[in-house]
Amino acid sequence: MKITIIGAGNVGATTAYAILLKNLAAEVILIDINDKKEAGEVWDIADGLGVLESGGIRQGNFADARAADVLIITAGLAQRAGGETRLDLFAKNKEIMTSIFTAIGPLDRQTIVLVITNPVDALVAHVQKISGLPRTQVFGSGTTLDTARLRRCLSERLNVSPRNVHGYVLGEHGDSGFVAWSTVTVGGVPVIKLPGFSPALAEEVEIEIRQSANKIIARKGATFYGIATVITKILEAILADAELVLPVSTRLTNWNGVSGVCLGAPAVIGRRGIVRHWPLSLTATEKKKLRAAARVIKCFS
Ligand code: NAD
Repeated sequence: MKITIIGAGNVGATTAYAILLKNLAAEVILIDINDKKEAGEVWDIADGLGVLESGGIRQGNFADARAADVLIITAGLAQRAGGETRLDLFAKNKEIMTSIFTAIGPLDRQTIVLVITNPVDALVAHVQKISGLPRTQVFGSGTTLDTARLRRCLSERLNVSPRNVHGYVLGEHGDSGFVAWSTVTVGGVPVIKLPGFSPALAEEVEIEIRQSANKIIARKGATFYGIATVITKILEAILADAELVLPVSTRLTNWNGVSGVCLGAPAVIGRRGIVRHWPLSLTATEKKKLRAAARVIKCFS
């Protein structure tokens, strides 16, 4: 399997490294508009190959992107410290997406495109329009990272492994995203029925998830380990044709009453991309929050 990553910054380089550590691909190709950065990251990661089981990494160009099995887009501006929102990045990153896909030209018909660059939901809609691929093959990480954060937050508060926490953050990967509490179970028990759970705890968790990126950026300038780990999970679903349900961002069609907008919602993922959306039944309040997120993202489509 050939995986090409466009954008050798914090997220792109860390993702390449994580892919090789997890032995997910025969070859990772890293591409960046900044040749020097691209060369430095490839060199540094390649220095470890001798002690890994398999896999290779090299610099590439847009012709390599054309033939990728999976093309991961991490190029573009990231939020800076000081409260910048993901939506503030839209205009510039949309231009960057257009320039990248114009330079690549027609993609191999089998390629899966995974968009990570923010604002991810609005940019997935744009890349679906310009990539020339079926919509099922172009999707974004959506609320997969937010959902992983939910699992961590609850595991810390309820003293249980994050692997025993299930459920979803839905909607925008951004300020209007929300925890769908009706979907959350811990060790098979609905979280709202657990003795340690309260509305105050729910609010605290939701705020922590929403503020995570800004708080990490305030401390270290960027977020990349969490998202890189999550990207490898999405890749595993694609490469192993695993039919894994993950809350990626893709266009919704009458999903809990919302249509025609890309948002994070659980979908079955396999070798050909999105197989189908998972039929969660949200409460009236959750549906209202999903519609609110849809209104936000529609303004950027
Ligand atoms: P970064 O600044 O470290 O890296 C971005 C890289 O993109 C740079 O190396 C830059 O040279 C390159 N680039 C810019 N224009 C390009 C072009 N036209 N072609 C090729 N390369 C180009 O930023 P980062 O921290 O790696 O973040 C990358 C993106 O990922 C941001 O938009 C960030 O907000 C997003 N992100 C998303 C999630 C998520 O959950 N979806 C999580 C974290 C970060």
